[in-house]
Amino acid sequence: MIAKQLDSNRLERTDGWGQVVHAVDYVYRPTTVAGIQDVLTLARDTGRSVGLRGGGISYGDASVNAENILLDLSRMTRILDWNPETGIIDVEAGVTMRDLWRYVVGDGWWPNVVPGTMFGTIGGSLAMNVHGKNHWQSGTIGDHTLEFDAVLPNGDCITCLPDETPDLFQSIISGVGLFAIVTRARLQLKRIYSGRLKTTSHTVPDLKSLLTLMDAQKDDSDYLVGWTDCFAKGDTLGRGQVDATVALAAGKDPLPTQTLRLAFQDVSDTIFGVIPKSILWRVARYATNNVGIAWLNRAKYWAGKLQHGKQALNSYAAANFMLDYVPHWKKAYLPGGLLQHQSFLPKATSEQAIREMLTLCQARGYPSYLGVIKRHPADDKYLLGYSLDGFSLAMDFRVTARNRAELLQLMYDLDDIVVAAGGRFYFAKDAHLRPESVSASLGAERMQTLIALKRQYDPANLLQTNLSRRLFGKQFQVQSKT
Ligand SMILES: Cc1cc2nc3c(=O)[nH]c(=O)nc-3n(C[C@H](O)[C@H](O)[C@H](O)COP(=O)(O)OP(=O)(O)OC[C@H]3O[C@@H](n4cnc5c(N)ncnc54)[C@H](O)[C@@H]3O)c2cc1C
Repeated sequence: MIAKQLDSNRLERTDGWGQVVHAVDYVYRPTTVAGIQDVLTLARDTGRSVGLRGGGISYGDASVNAENILLDLSRMTRILDWNPETGIIDVEAGVTMRDLWRYVVGDGWWPNVVPGTMFGTIGGSLAMNVHGKNHWQSGTIGDHTLEFDAVLPNGDCITCLPDETPDLFQSIISGVGLFAIVTRARLQLKRIYSGRLKTTSHTVPDLKSLLTLMDAQKDDSDYLVGWTDCFAKGDTLGRGQVDATVALAAGKDPLPTQTLRLAFQDVSDTIFGVIPKSILWRVARYATNNVGIAWLNRAKYWAGKLQHGKQALNSYAAANFMLDYVPHWKKAYLPGGLLQHQSFLPKATSEQAIREMLTLCQARGYPSYLGVIKRHPADDKYLLGYSLDGFSLAMDFRVTARNRAELLQLMYDLDDIVVAAGGRFYFAKDAHLRPESVSASLGAERMQTLIALKRQYDPANLLQTNLSRRLFGKQFQVQSKT
């Protein structure tokens, strides 16, 4: 049982992953359901709200709760049950994607959906309903969740199943931690017959070719990702590369027992066996500017041309979590950090909207340092779903004290392009969206359902974060205490 007043020793600085958002919160790290219920009671007794945090790797303010309580679930890390015959696993909410794949890969299983980094927790991944490079065909993590346990803001523990409790299932999943605290999840994993994936890289001269090729490849690929050089202009605007990846079918890997081993999956932490990758960000820091990144993009594009049509075999971990193998790369963006703009666009308007966004960034002098394009399926059933039958574009921008205001204006102008194109946004990556862009993209019906469900399950507005106050503050304020 914890004290009836807030302990100032619990005050900690918490950051969004992109290092743009910083807050000081009262951080509690329970390991049991009873511990979570105690924190909820403490919040009610002290008139504070409760924000949730898993791995804390959402880019912006989704897992910070300034001057209020932050319930950090990262110590709930037990694997509760594993059946290597069926591929069904029960885990606590603080188990990370890393813990998960490392536990099962040797038995020939892999999560159906993994995001681009392995450091998020299952609880945080459900709250954002994460997707991977196979989104258009495998859906989101919610689609592979058989059931989960959660603690409601009133302290009740519930079990949610997709068919028996659809409204709670579909709103806690995707609900950015606004409805309940997930404590346990049962996931269906997928069978794999090799620890390796085969990737074919194709270089494309412009945006139209990139989107057309991604569409053409989707029926024959298990994973698909496009990279675009955001500095390319004119006829070459949108040029880049498409990586189409397939899993090896049963019997195609001569040494599956070897390649499924952790030792095979783990990527070396040095380059050429000598240079530690942990120093790379220090070097990258000097190139993280318009001139350096423009040259790196050119080099990547021309190097890609040499690899055009060639195939490479990579481990599942290397293929899925490439960025994780450059430790601390985000530090190259310090001291100001990075803002990501990720938008989801319907297929019919994707090309025009992406063209407009890339051109606008260049015209303002802020070409994005990253350009990742993915293919997505039609609208899903989740409350705060972001999916659309079309493409997404993710762009990273370096924030400095001098460019902050201009960059923010650029983000708003990009949002307007997305809204006009009928697109959506992904809150896991967001640090800047305004309520009007969110309402416009989610639509009136979803917004009304969101508000109604929030009032039903959390009438005192106990569960909040900086993100929820920024995006939905006014709508939930009616019954808010804080
Ligand atoms: C380099 C990088 C690449 C990424 N690539 C992808 C990608 O390809 N696809 C993708 O979909 N995402 C991607 N992400 C985003 C990431 O997967 C999500 O932000 C995910 O939510 C992180 O999990 P977390 O445990 O760190 O969540 P946190 O950031 O800690 O929290 C995220 C949200 O979940 C809520 N929450 C946390 N724990 C719980 C719980 N137990 N119960 C209920 N709510 C909870 C929080 O309130 C918050 O709103 C990427 C992030 C990074 C940094």
